[in-house]
Amino acid sequence: MKIQILGSGQDAGIPQIGCYCPTCKRARRYKRYRRLGPSIALLDKGKGYCYLIDASPDIKYQIDMLKKEDITIKRKGKLPISGILLTHAHLGHCSGLWYFGREATEERNLPVFCTSKMRQFLIDNYPFNLLIRRKNIKIKEVFQGKAFKISGIKCIPIEVPHRNEIADTVGYRIQSQKNVLYISDVDYWTDKVIEEIDNVDIAIIDGTFYSKYELPRFRYVPHPPIEETIKLLEHSKTKIYFTHINHSNPINWNRKEKKYIKGKGFHSAFDGLVLNI
Ligand SMILES: [Zn+2]
Ligand SMILES: [Zn+2]
Ligand SMILES: [Zn+2]
Repeated sequence: MKIQILGSGQDAGIPQIGCYCPTCKRARRYKRYRRLGPSIALLDKGKGYCYLIDASPDIKYQIDMLKKEDITIKRKGKLPISGILLTHAHLGHCSGLWYFGREATEERNLPVFCTSKMRQFLIDNYPFNLLIRRKNIKIKEVFQGKAFKISGIKCIPIEVPHRNEIADTVGYRIQSQKNVLYISDVDYWTDKVIEEIDNVDIAIIDGTFYSKYELPRFRYVPHPPIEETIKLLEHSKTKIYFTHINHSNPINWNRKEKKYIKGKGFHSAFDGLVLNI
């Protein structure tokens, strides 16, 4: 099985809508500097499956990335995906579902895995309730800390602290030959989550900001800054990749910060990165 990073950007990606900072300008000019909205694929060509975690607003480009893989999916659907695992209800993580309705692919019973609070949010709100009613998507409820299987892969939803004004937030632990943890969005690290990171082989985690001073409204959208996460986890044996990277993050352009991360044994994710697990 392999994991492909389909989007390593914060919810709105890079370039950000309406932003003309040097990072966003450069990303408009050169495709290789872009970061799509957060999403990863868990796929196995031989076994005929491909699941996404997070349904970003850039899903149509992310499906194109998967198309190149030429996977024959066992489930009969219009897109090369077997199902979607949701983490939470913010823009970058669930708005891609809208593409499964009438105005786009009109999928049939695409399995969508989520917690009960997230399920209730989807049931209560347009356009998601329409997708359910029209059987474009089919909700499969999962429970924090309780394992479930998709095409034989064991997944465990892990509760993480994040501003939960709408529903709750989870990351996922994926158990294959290697154990992988994916936490795209978190406000701060708790001892429990740090322990989860320490207990896997690979962790793909929130690296939205490098420092807490780079965005004036940081206190309204808190994330653990990379420089603090490194201090907390520098002795961890886990291979750690930062994702969900904001356009303000200096690792997009600054060699010094990039070098520091690398020197400490950490990695930054990029769109298209493939990890064999
Ligand atoms: Zn996010
Ligand atoms: Zn920008
Ligand atoms: Zn969020």
